[in-house]
Amino acid sequence: MIQKKVCLFGASGVGKTSLVRQFVDGIFSDKYLTTIGVKVDKKRIECEQQDVQLMLWDIEGTDRYSVFQERYLRGASAYIVVVDQTRTSSLIEGMDIHTLAKQVNPCLTVLAVNKSDLEQHWHWNERQLDDYRALFNLSFTTSAKTGDNVERMFQQLAELLVAEHK
Ligand code: GDP
Ligand code: MG
Repeated sequence: MIQKKVCLFGASGVGKTSLVRQFVDGIFSDKYLTTIGVKVDKKRIECEQQDVQLMLWDIEGTDRYSVFQERYLRGASAYIVVVDQTRTSSLIEGMDIHTLAKQVNPCLTVLAVNKSDLEQHWHWNERQLDDYRALFNLSFTTSAKTGDNVERMFQQLAELLVAEHK
């Protein structure tokens, strides 16, 4: 079995915990429970005839001016930057985190533009967003609420991790 550590980063409230809940347990809740520190969940999936165990590190939302928690990146094979398409500031924060995280650990990177079930509400047009997407190995528009693209995102990430592992 291949075991891989994957971190989730992003401003608080973007849906990191909800994405993990949807992927691991198939549930969604509207209740907002702030993650304190870090919570690690495991999920085993099959990928190219291999058992892959993803260790998902759900990390407390960082505030723009707080210290980026780079120690969580130790040993990580990938990280997912989650942004909320209803909040412009979350994209700016996400890109700041990405810039810092990439310097700490040049691992695989994923952008999750979350809350696709809600109306888009930010200043960027699709072309500008494409420029941000291009900074990541993979990018998805997700909804932790409806489950749209959630499984697909983790599955495709696992495929890259397995390919890299060989
Ligand atoms: P975190 O701070 O990044 O872990 O964010 P949470 O997962 O705690 O989510 C923050 C709030 O946004 C909660 O009230 C969730 O129910 C809500 N939320 C998360 N993902 C989605 C989504 O895809 N769609 C909608 N409509 N709400 C979401
Ligand atoms: Mg959380």
